[in-house]
Amino acid sequence: MSVFHLKYRPNKISELDLTDVSDKLTKILGSKDMPQSWLFAGPKGSGKTSAARILAKSINCLDPDGVEPCDKCKNCQEIMRGNSLDIIEIDGASNRGVDDIRNLKDSAYLSPINLKKKVVIIDEVHMLTREAFNALLKVLEEPPKNLIFVLCTTDDNKIPETVLSRLCQIRFIKGNKESLKKSLNKIIKGEKIKIDEDAINYILEKSDGSFRNLQRNFNEIFLQTGKKISLKDIEGYLLKNGEYEGKNLEEDLMAGEVEVILEKLEKMAGDGVNFADLREKWLQYFQAKMLSFYGLGTKSDGLDLISIKKIIDLLIEAGGREKLTEIGQLPLEMVIVDFLGKKSTLSTEHRAPSTEDREQKKEKERENMVTGEVAEIANKWGEVLMAVKPFNHSVEAFLRAARPYSMKNGVLTLEVFYKFHKERLEEAKNRQIVMVGLEKVLGKGVEFKCVLIENKKNNFQIDNFSLKGLSSVATSSNEQIPKTEKKAEEIFV
Ligand SMILES: [Zn+2]
Repeated sequence: MSVFHLKYRPNKISELDLTDVSDKLTKILGSKDMPQSWLFAGPKGSGKTSAARILAKSINCLDPDGVEPCDKCKNCQEIMRGNSLDIIEIDGASNRGVDDIRNLKDSAYLSPINLKKKVVIIDEVHMLTREAFNALLKVLEEPPKNLIFVLCTTDDNKIPETVLSRLCQIRFIKGNKESLKKSLNKIIKGEKIKIDEDAINYILEKSDGSFRNLQRNFNEIFLQTGKKISLKDIEGYLLKNGEYEGKNLEEDLMAGEVEVILEKLEKMAGDGVNFADLREKWLQYFQAKMLSFYGLGTKSDGLDLISIKKIIDLLIEAGGREKLTEIGQLPLEMVIVDFLGKKSTLSTEHRAPSTEDREQKKEKERENMVTGEVAEIANKWGEVLMAVKPFNHSVEAFLRAARPYSMKNGVLTLEVFYKFHKERLEEAKNRQIVMVGLEKVLGKGVEFKCVLIENKKNNFQIDNFSLKGLSSVATSSNEQIPKTEKKAEEIFV
């Protein structure tokens, strides 16, 4: 499998993504007094390290074309293989102490082994301690003739003025749409990928001006979807990375799709998304929307002001709850449930009163009929939750939303209302936890399985389904509905 950022990274100065940078480097490298100490400053993923390696080739190439490396001579080849002993790359974030810089100095002062000049690249150099900077400054003041320094940073404000004044500074910026598109097109052409124009625009928008993000995102999308890529493929991938934008949330909220939003959040939880970041992103979005009602910023279609105020309130409240639970997605799920009220699958809001009455009656009947073993388990359900909680809070939360439904041949059937709850509970690891909890409370081993209650589609059917299931423990039930039985078979998988 190809790795795009390796395969398509620039090899020549003219291939650098930022034309301004390649122009400046060409000019400076072509001049008589080539600086020995450089600073490449700019945002993450803007190509600083790639440029540093090209610079190393340019000054070491045995057969350069002007300032451009040939990529063929033994020096270019050695640098491109990435194992040259004369190119020293260190990360300033993890080697930030004065001793690290002294060690670096010791090896840097030795003459180059194979190349013409030794090149020391320090990434994230602003992370160095004050003492380390002082040690570095001494080297920068009188560098050995064969030594080149390239310091890279995302935050040059943190570099002491004394150090900065010794450096030839090259500024890197975020890629604009045009330069990002150029970079992406190289890969699209190289890999012969068929991709929709709106998908390209979406990827460009999501890269946040970073060429590295762009290549990484696109590489992963490519690995997941293959050589034909549509906008839909990309949205699914981005969700995995927590890219559920405020705008998309607003659309989902307006559609009133509680389940859709909850399912997205659950999926994101499985992918390890940071929900505090997501909440912050949503807050920023809705704050901007609120301000737009008062002439600040551009007003766009969507929720009304009252709804926006409400969602902001709920999101702020959710922030306070983040520390109270280990279920990262839960505070945001509560925002959604609170905001959309009862318009969920369990809703009674839009039902005619007669249906509602009948349902309540059935619910009562159902409760009365819960007898025998399953009734015992239902009564002790709180204890089961308590027993499970220390092992896994999410599992406890899923069980809290589940109901003991029937008990047959030592197998407990649980009613669950969401597909993702069923899937989670049936994962081997979680299943084990539930069974341990049941055993602890019931004093014996109990198998279990989950039944998905799809009451969204047909409420009446669900009631009968429930009653049918209960007939296995309640001898008095005469309910026989073949259609539901078939339905039950389908979901008892
Ligand atoms: Zn060369």
